[in-house]
Amino acid sequence: MKAMILKETSPVEKEPLGIADLPVPSLNSKEILVKVSACGVCHTELDEIEGRIQSKLPIILGHEIVGKVKELGSQVTKFKKGDRVGIAWIHSSCGECSFCREGRENLCAKFKATGCDVDGGYAEFTLVSEDFAYPIPEMFSDSQAAPLLCAGAIGYRALRLSNLQDGQILGLFGFGASAHIVIQIVKYKYPNSKVFVFTRPWQEEHRNLARRLGADWTGTTGDTPPAKLNCAIDFTPAWGPIACALRALEKGGRVIINAIRKEEKDKNSLLKLDYAGHLWLEKEIKSVANITRKDAQDFLPLAAQIPILPKVQEFRLEEANRALILLKQGKIQGAGILRMPD
Ligand SMILES: [Zn+2]
Ligand SMILES: [Zn+2]
Repeated sequence: MKAMILKETSPVEKEPLGIADLPVPSLNSKEILVKVSACGVCHTELDEIEGRIQSKLPIILGHEIVGKVKELGSQVTKFKKGDRVGIAWIHSSCGECSFCREGRENLCAKFKATGCDVDGGYAEFTLVSEDFAYPIPEMFSDSQAAPLLCAGAIGYRALRLSNLQDGQILGLFGFGASAHIVIQIVKYKYPNSKVFVFTRPWQEEHRNLARRLGADWTGTTGDTPPAKLNCAIDFTPAWGPIACALRALEKGGRVIINAIRKEEKDKNSLLKLDYAGHLWLEKEIKSVANITRKDAQDFLPLAAQIPILPKVQEFRLEEANRALILLKQGKIQGAGILRMPD
């Protein structure tokens, strides 16, 4: 099979992923072999490539995978050959620890991530346990479904953790793949809530997309919004937006940081927070880590019901480096997707 492989960490600008011809992996009794048709590109992959997250090496990246079941392990009962399935960031968890038993398998110490601890979807085939694959609602094309599996599912989790109530004001900092899905969930589930969107100054096209999707106000990070935010979600790789969000927050409000790692640049900036202005009056900061299977299982049908049709920009598998560089530059509209050859 063809795959794009990362052998060692490197700045993404050096185009470190190389095309390789590998044997199709062989499956164990609980696994399904999936013929990949689409795989999303995600900021987390930039963190893996550039060494901010440690992944196994060499690695086949990719954790927003849509494809068809090609082969079944001997004990598989949930899927049949030809079924369309999705695979997300959660590849497996132990199922036995207190976190797993409490429905917080995203925090399991033995959590394994797709395309990080095990090979993922930048390839023609991949493997997953039947317990960690999801049926894809019919209405979505393969490319549309792919970003729902990470950008969508983690955005859904972040929104849940934000504790937004209908009628309250939500701030979104950064408007890429995840935020453009979250705003559609908000407009559906919280029709009386207002959404304010903050981007970097030059991201006029992101602000335009935000307005088309129903943003009630758009501006640049650091701008003073027309009203205080009851909660905010930060989707950016930077530190500055967290301080801006805290300052714009209403009393008792919460900022959710939807990032697995932040840039090294300005990493001490949170130490400069002004307690009275940024934190006092019961303001909270909380991060989001991974997703649970339930996040994906709940979100996919909701996305079909709304419906959320992610805006996607498609690339060939061999163009993975270019897609990742554009992602780093904030130049992808919506979500970047690798399409595999049929
Ligand atoms: Zn992701
Ligand atoms: Zn566990």
